Amino acid sequence: MQSKIAFCLACCLWIINSTALTALQEKPFTVGTATASPGHKASGVIEIPAGSDAALNIPVVVVRGTKPGPTLAIVAGLHGTEYASIIAVEHLIETVDPATVSGTLILVPLVNVNSFEQIIPHLNPADGKNMNRMFPGNMSGTQTDRASFLITREVVEKCDHLIDLHGGDLDESLRPYSYWTRTGNDKLDAVSREMVLAFGLDHVIISTDRPKDPAASRYLENTATTRGKASITAEAGYAGTVAQEDVEALVRGCQSVMRFFKMLPGQPERVAHPVWIESIETITSEQNGIFYPLVKRGTRVAKGTSLGYLTDYVGNKIMDARAPADGEVLFIRAIPSMTKGQTIANIGVVGTPK
Ligand SMILES: [Zn+2]
Repeated sequence: MQSKIAFCLACCLWIINSTALTALQEKPFTVGTATASPGHKASGVIEIPAGSDAALNIPVVVVRGTKPGPTLAIVAGLHGTEYASIIAVEHLIETVDPATVSGTLILVPLVNVNSFEQIIPHLNPADGKNMNRMFPGNMSGTQTDRASFLITREVVEKCDHLIDLHGGDLDESLRPYSYWTRTGNDKLDAVSREMVLAFGLDHVIISTDRPKDPAASRYLENTATTRGKASITAEAGYAGTVAQEDVEALVRGCQSVMRFFKMLPGQPERVAHPVWIESIETITSEQNGIFYPLVKRGTRVAKGTSLGYLTDYVGNKIMDARAPADGEVLFIRAIPSMTKGQTIANIGVVGTPK
């Protein structure tokens, strides 16, 4: 009799537990105006209301899996002319099948709609601000501030992990790489390290200088990280191009991170021999002029190697741009236009295995 009761209790617990799990997955998931029930994909917008300047609708797609699992946000187009990253998220929107997903995907393919439509690199032309520098934002500021605030509320606070996708902008010839933020929180850093390795890009920049204060997080990835959510940034694409290999690298990277979190069946494709970039040396232009590059992105250079030169508008050489350190050309100016203070190249200083 006693054993029958014990058996019944076990049964009841199992039924209660499985009902709870089922009930959890029966709930729809909402971001902005997009509400997806389990097994479905829904699209909508995050509505940024008008304030001191115009309103903005940021497109969003929610993919709600049928099985329980984490919520992963994948965001692109904070810089609206880093096209390969935007097209990669468009590809994910088209191809991810909610029936195969465990957990939930929040896909934001294009935050900086004005930049995309007006073909303006780096900034939101509505207010001249960089959309990856104003997080966590506020509702009393300009459009970028308000967008940052509502992305923080709708995307960052609703996800468990975030991947922020970028690439070389219109004026940058960039080799693919990802960023691993080292916060000092070993548990968090171990998860983001696995994410960055699962993403599969073989060059990883180690960020140690990101703000620690969640109220002054600046960057999107850092807004998630400072809220205790292990997250990464990855970049591929350059100078307005949409090369298949760059788009595929970003799509495969996102899918592989989903496998790491068991959101998709299969094993992640972990990068076997990552190149860790311990610091970045930036060389900036001393004058306005015409830039002529002498090396390509991805080239290993020694300190003092000539990376390119600058002339005035009648052909007189006015600057020789030399590598400030031994390292790899992470990106180099892709176009002749150059003004004083702009970046000529970023040299990644290669570190030891991590
Ligand atoms: Zn960017």
